[in-house]
Amino acid sequence: MEVTKYYTLQDMARIGCNDCKGCHACCRGMGDRVVLTPYDVHVLSIQLGLTVDELFAEWLQLTIVDGLLQPSMAMNGVGERCHALDESGRCRIHAFRPSICRLFPLGRQYTEDSIQYFVLEEACPAAQKTKVKISKWVERPEFKEHETFLVQWHAFKKKCMTRMSESDDLDYHRQLLMYVLQLFYRKPYTEGAFYAEFLERLAEAGEILEA
Ligand code: SF4
Ligand code: SF4
Repeated sequence: MEVTKYYTLQDMARIGCNDCKGCHACCRGMGDRVVLTPYDVHVLSIQLGLTVDELFAEWLQLTIVDGLLQPSMAMNGVGERCHALDESGRCRIHAFRPSICRLFPLGRQYTEDSIQYFVLEEACPAAQKTKVKISKWVERPEFKEHETFLVQWHAFKKKCMTRMSESDDLDYHRQLLMYVLQLFYRKPYTEGAFYAEFLERLAEAGEILEA
């Protein structure tokens, strides 16, 4: 797909899809593309009152995405429906849905210290889309802080992939994948302290990667 225009959080883009009106096209058949960040998993765990392991047993699937073990929303049964979809095709976790779902039909491109957004032109079939400010679209009061977290998480994942590409030792690859999964996803964060605790863990993992 050729991207002709990039946006920042402060820009308006034509992405408003009239509350989806019965459509759930982007909530099925997505394979492992609805990837969750550590923040998404933390929020799901708090809001659903489930441990991360309980989430993995029902709500999430774990696959290698971009070279790292990462959770994504489980897609089930005929039509590969997202586990969060109810019978009528509504998202049961709409208020605390993952970042990638909040963004759709926008895509993200990472720069050194920020994110550029672009419209996935053919991805959403809604007609007569309205213009919406992107910071409003993501429906997150701390959108800037969250964007900083996403940039840091993306950079860390890239560093892990670089480290693995530098070594043929499959044991090292496996240990690193499991370490990242445990430290950033399975180890619980304190409610209300996610961003601070994420930074602490990032520093800890950074030292291990540099060792
Ligand atoms: S494809 Fe567009 S209209 Fe359909 S559910 Fe997704 S965002 Fe809403
Ligand atoms: S979490 Fe909700 S919005 Fe995201 S894919 Fe699943 S049903 Fe759709």
